[in-house]
Amino acid sequence: MKIIDIINGKKPSLSFEVFPPKTSDKYDSVSSAIKEIARLNPSYMSVTYGAGGGTSEYTARIAQEVSSLGITSLAHLTCISSSCELVREQLSNLQALGIENILALRGDIPEGLNINNCDFHYSYELIDEIKKHGEFCIGGACYPECHPESESIEKDIEHLKIKVAHGCEFLTTQMFFDNNAFYQFVNRLEKAGINVPVVAGIMPITSPTQFERIVKLSGNALPKSFLNEVLRFENDPEAFRKAGIEFASKQAINLYENGFGAVHIYSMNKPEVARKIQNNLLDVIK
Ligand code: FAD
Repeated sequence: MKIIDIINGKKPSLSFEVFPPKTSDKYDSVSSAIKEIARLNPSYMSVTYGAGGGTSEYTARIAQEVSSLGITSLAHLTCISSSCELVREQLSNLQALGIENILALRGDIPEGLNINNCDFHYSYELIDEIKKHGEFCIGGACYPECHPESESIEKDIEHLKIKVAHGCEFLTTQMFFDNNAFYQFVNRLEKAGINVPVVAGIMPITSPTQFERIVKLSGNALPKSFLNEVLRFENDPEAFRKAGIEFASKQAINLYENGFGAVHIYSMNKPEVARKIQNNLLDVIK
């Protein structure tokens, strides 16, 4: 099924993100986490693509596995580190595996890479290539708090408009912890004439280590409530985990209640976290 039809459907959507194994010896454990998450019957599951293309083979395999479990899959694909030839191979592979949905991304620029020598420079060029290849439903990334390389949010939104004009049918946001940042962002998109659906990406922070590794480095704005409700449990791992899940659930409930019907949870390969959040949302997504 095409993701755009799911998002535009009458029912609110709740999707989960997973990542493929880096090496073959980890395949089975990732596969069993995926099976557990699929049992929750999410609206769809998205499968990341390793930075620099390192886990490309497994992205397609895991996406196919998700589909074989009866869940719509969304395969991420990056282009900055790939030749045009490699991208075409990947697209043929995804097509052969029956994957219908691609999240078209540029990817982070690896240190030392001279982008003048690259076949692709921006995600919209990947979108062009995908569109030449076949009938995929294509999504793209967006950044409520601005992409770090962008000189301003206005410029970033101008570039988003180009991405959409090239065929990006829906956008998924980078994680955010303050829903007001999301609401302001969608207002800006509307004013800029960007009318494709925006899926809100929420990351549950379940440990102080994850907080240090992801949130501190990301530069995301943290509302006071995050400090009060989650960070105060810095020295109590179980309470921290519970509070992180509660915080993400509350964010999602607030989004649904304000009429945003598509929420994507970056629960990664943690079925228990996905299950708990889904349970917390049952009343608002039924
Ligand atoms: P682009 O849309 O190309 O934008 C990159 C920068 O270029 C922005 O600053 C933008 O303003 C600017 N720009 C865009 N178009 C133009 C233009 N026409 N002219 C001038 N400037 C322009 N990374 C992975 O490696 N694997 C993943 O699986 C993955 N999944 C992600 C999923 C989501 C939902 C998000 C939000 C990010 C994901 N990323 C992933 C990270 C992403 O690859 C990086 O954030 C990357 O730096 C930007 O990718 P993009 O597709 O947004 O790039």
